[in-house]
Amino acid sequence: MDKLKVILFYKFVVIEDPEKFAEEHMDFCSKLGLVGKIIVATEGINGSLSGEVSLIEKYKKFVLSYSFLDDVWFKEEDVVENTFTKIAVIIKNEIVTMTCSVDIEKTPKHVDPLEFKKLIEDPEVVILDARNDYEYKVGHFKGALNSGIRTFRQFPKFISEFKKENAKKKVAIYCTGGIRCEKAGAYMKEQGFEEVYQLNGGIINYCQTLPSTTWQGKCFVFDKRLVTDVEKKGETIGECFVCFEKTDLYRNCKYSLCDRFDVICNSCQVELHGCCSMDCRSKFWMECVAKKEGKRIEVNVYG
Ligand SMILES: [Zn+2]
Ligand SMILES: [Zn+2]
Repeated sequence: MDKLKVILFYKFVVIEDPEKFAEEHMDFCSKLGLVGKIIVATEGINGSLSGEVSLIEKYKKFVLSYSFLDDVWFKEEDVVENTFTKIAVIIKNEIVTMTCSVDIEKTPKHVDPLEFKKLIEDPEVVILDARNDYEYKVGHFKGALNSGIRTFRQFPKFISEFKKENAKKKVAIYCTGGIRCEKAGAYMKEQGFEEVYQLNGGIINYCQTLPSTTWQGKCFVFDKRLVTDVEKKGETIGECFVCFEKTDLYRNCKYSLCDRFDVICNSCQVELHGCCSMDCRSKFWMECVAKKEGKRIEVNVYG
């Protein structure tokens, strides 16, 4: 069998007819048997797909065949198995959800890995991780600031505080593949930040270009893998939030009203029955009992 690859790509560009565009991509991917997730909006396209190298190459050609997408940059990684289970092409209002309108033309200066490394090494520069808190935990640039947000929707709220101390400083931001920085950076400029830089191509490109320099740990990815050892150095910096043991494992709390997604080691997962705390464990148990009793009542009624 051919080798497998995963690709990440995006472009902010006006897509006049998202329905038709989405259908074309769905048809193309389904015929090739590619798996992944493509988000389409009138503001552009954002996708990640995996499959055999030759098929991925066909899809790349297909994307580049649209005149308004002929400069799309694909970030690629070799993988040992498909990183998705099915193909989904979804039409949304935004290709990356910040729920706060921003003029994407205001995107900050893009810097390549070498320039970004210089910014990291400059003590005057604030390095801001534009990703979520749980992503930061398993890997980040040395000295980077964790925004502590749980979802990108909270980024504007974070900025309203962050700007008080930092709007006049040089700020360099980064994310996985670059898409969140396009919006985050434009938003920061609108909010009055004087000097913002964004890492072009994101963490994936940086680690492939300058491995073993200033990146620490692994990189969270929004696919089946959850984490990729992008520099292949086997370094674990993630810590279980329950027992502080080093781990790169994640899970959602099984108690439906909690659903906390965080870094948690295997033994704590077992001990807490897949929940995040003893409290959630007992609530989850009550939830299971309620479900079972609900079924029993149903059987009585119809039986
Ligand atoms: Zn633990
Ligand atoms: Zn919980």
